[in-house]
This record gives sequence, structure tokens and C-alpha cells, in this order.
Amino acid sequence: MKTALITGITGQDGAYLARFLLGRGYRVHGLLRRSASADVIGERLRWLGIEREVEMVDADLVDLSSILRAVQVTQPDEVYNLAAQSFVKTSWTQPLLTGQVTGLGAVNMLEAVRLAAPQARFYQASSSEMYGLIQAPIQNETTPFYPRSPYAAAKLYAHWMTVNYRESFGMHASSGILFNHESPLRGIEFVTRKITDGVARIKLGLAKTLALGNLDARRDWGHAADYVRAMWLMMQQETPADYVVATGRTTSVREFCRLAFAHAGLDWEAHVTVDPAFLRPAEVDVLQGDASRARERLGWEPEITLERMVAEMVDADLERLRRRGH
Ligand code: NDP
Ligand code: GDP
Repeated sequence: MKTALITGITGQDGAYLARFLLGRGYRVHGLLRRSASADVIGERLRWLGIEREVEMVDADLVDLSSILRAVQVTQPDEVYNLAAQSFVKTSWTQPLLTGQVTGLGAVNMLEAVRLAAPQARFYQASSSEMYGLIQAPIQNETTPFYPRSPYAAAKLYAHWMTVNYRESFGMHASSGILFNHESPLRGIEFVTRKITDGVARIKLGLAKTLALGNLDARRDWGHAADYVRAMWLMMQQETPADYVVATGRTTSVREFCRLAFAHAGLDWEAHVTVDPAFLRPAEVDVLQGDASRARERLGWEPEITLERMVAEMVDADLERLRRRGH
């Protein structure tokens, strides 16, 4: 039986990855940081019905001693470093924390693995945000980076440190440059989930309008369930490498709104307003990925279309609000 250690297991990708690995017979450990709120473990893992199957270990990414202990105790075959301050907008109000968790935190994990489980395979959650002000219309593994936020700059540091540990110490360390991926478990502050939650509220008569920022921004949106499969495939390769994971299709926030409102039988233009409070100091206008390497070397293809994902997200938000009795 293989053992995996997932940082960020309480997040969107951590939950889907845990379910995927459990389904393949893995023993799954997850890092859990202390919180004063009782229910932090619960929500996403419970939604997937796996909260009793994962084993939690108490640690925080910024505390190297706790990370080292977590790796020592669990002795993983595979380590997935998914923990991060992952919201781009917050990275301007908390740039140092973002640097500590998203940047240095990854190096804490690399150090802990190098010292306590050097044979373990390591996955780093890199991001298409690293392309920022894009240097090519379609981005692949050789496209130069141009980060546009403290988040992207921190991810870039973590990305290059992953490459460096692979080259310096011969570690089996891979970096997945994942384009945006969403699901019913996406954090509510991200635009897709904000939209599907807004649609559900308007549909149920709980709200009349939804305020957004830049409707012209375009993203290459995939489904988290497809993307965690790519992470695992990278860990199964004999040779570690970096991979772009993307659908190859780019869609505007405006078009995402149209699809989501239409799924609930609503006209988006009657409800969406623009509020400058949701604009960013520097914007990433458009992202579109080329996942040829992942397709050729990993045999990976996305299976869930944008339309199917939008429908799933709107339906899940309607169900959540109805269950809660609004
Ligand atoms: P989420 O924001 O949903 O999850 C982040 C996770 O990190 C949570 O489990 C959170 O724990 C944990 N975390 C935050 N700070 C710490 C800390 N100091 N110590 C330990 N754990 C911590 O992110 P996603 O699941 O969406 O993304 C997973 C990873 O992939 C992230 O690194 C993200 O930046 C990256 N990524 C995501 C993309 C996407 O589109 N989703 C695209 C490209 C990269 P808690 O629950 O306690 O807050
Ligand atoms: P990101 O790509 O990691 O920053 O993911 P987000 O989902 O947070 O944002 C995607 C794009 O949607 C960005 O270009 C945002 O500027 C744009 N956007 C437009 N309105 C909003 C909004 O109200 N909230 C968020 N989070 N993003 C918005």
C-alpha cells in the first residue's frame, strides 16, 4: 500500500486528490493547521464523503519543525504540496504572508522531504498565474514567466526551488503548472464560484444582483477532478519534470456569467453589476494553456467540459442553499 502526504488537504484540490488516491488504495495523510473554528476539516472532505478515511497530522507550512515531524511520522511515498495562500487579490493586502506560505512554505516542504524522506516523490502546485503578462498567446512549459501579483511572484520562487532541488539533490520533484480549475468545492471568493453562488441566490430570491470586477478577463478553466489526476500521473513517471495542465480553451468572465445564469433560466445582463472594488492593482488579462506535453507523456486529457462544470457548480450551490434552508 502506498502512502501519500497532502498539504492543503482541506482545500479544493486536496479534497479531490485525497478521494482520487483513496480510490487507488493509498493511505492518505493530510496536513491540518490549528484553527479556533471547530469545523475546518469538515466541509469539503465531507462533501466528498471521505472525512473519516483521511488521517490528519498537525502542522503548519511556515513552521519547519512541524513539517519535518509530519514527514518523519508519515514516511510518505508521495508528497503533494498543495497548501498556499492561494487567492491572488489577497496577496496584495498580505504580500509577506503570501511569500511565507506560498513561497518559503514550499521550500520548508522540500527541505523536510530531503531530510526525512529523500526517496519520496514531490509534487509542487505551480500556477498559470506565473505567466501573468503573457509573453506568448498560448503558454507552454517553455514560455517565459512574468508574474503580476505577490501570489504569482511567490509561486515562481517555489517553482524554481522545486526545479533546483531536482537538479541539485536528484530529488524526484515535479511541478505542475496548472491553469485555473474549478468545481463545486472552489473557494467562494474565486470568480467562478462567486458567480454560481450568486446565480443560486438570485434564483432562490435571496438576492437581486451580483457585483463583479473585470468582465473581460479570460481564463482557461478546467475541472479540479480532471486536474488532480494529472498530478498523480506526474508522480508515476520514472523521470520528474514540469507539466502544463490546461484545457486549451479560453473563456471570458462575461461568457462564464452567461452560461451560469442561463443554466438557471436567468438573463445575466439583468443581474450583474460592475463594482471597481473587485478590480486588481495589476491584472492578468488572458491565459490559454497548451498541455501537449501532458497529453503526450502522461496520456492526460481533460474529460469534463466547461458547460458540464458550470451546470454542476450551479446545481450544487442551489442544493447547498436549499439544504441550509437558505
Ligand atoms: P485552496 O485555497 O482551496 O486550499 C489551500 C489549502 O492550503 C487549504 O487546505 C489551506 O488550509 C492550506 N493552507 C493555507 N495556509 C496554510 C499554512 N500556513 N499551513 C498549512 N496549510 C495551509 O486552494 P486550491 O485547492 O484551489 O489549490 C491548491 C494549490 O494549487 C494551491 O497551492 C494553489 O495556489 C494552486 N493552484 C490552484 C489553481 C486553481 O485554479 N485552483 C491553479 C494553479 C495553482 P485551511 O483550510 O486551513 O485554510
Ligand atoms: P485567479 O485567476 O487566480 O486570479 O482567479 P479568480 O477566479 O480570483 O479571478 C479570475 C479573473 O476574474 C481575474 O482576472 C479577476 O480580475 C476576474 N474577476 C472579475 N470579477 C471578479 C470578482 O468579483 N472576483 C474575483 N475573484 N475575480 C473577478
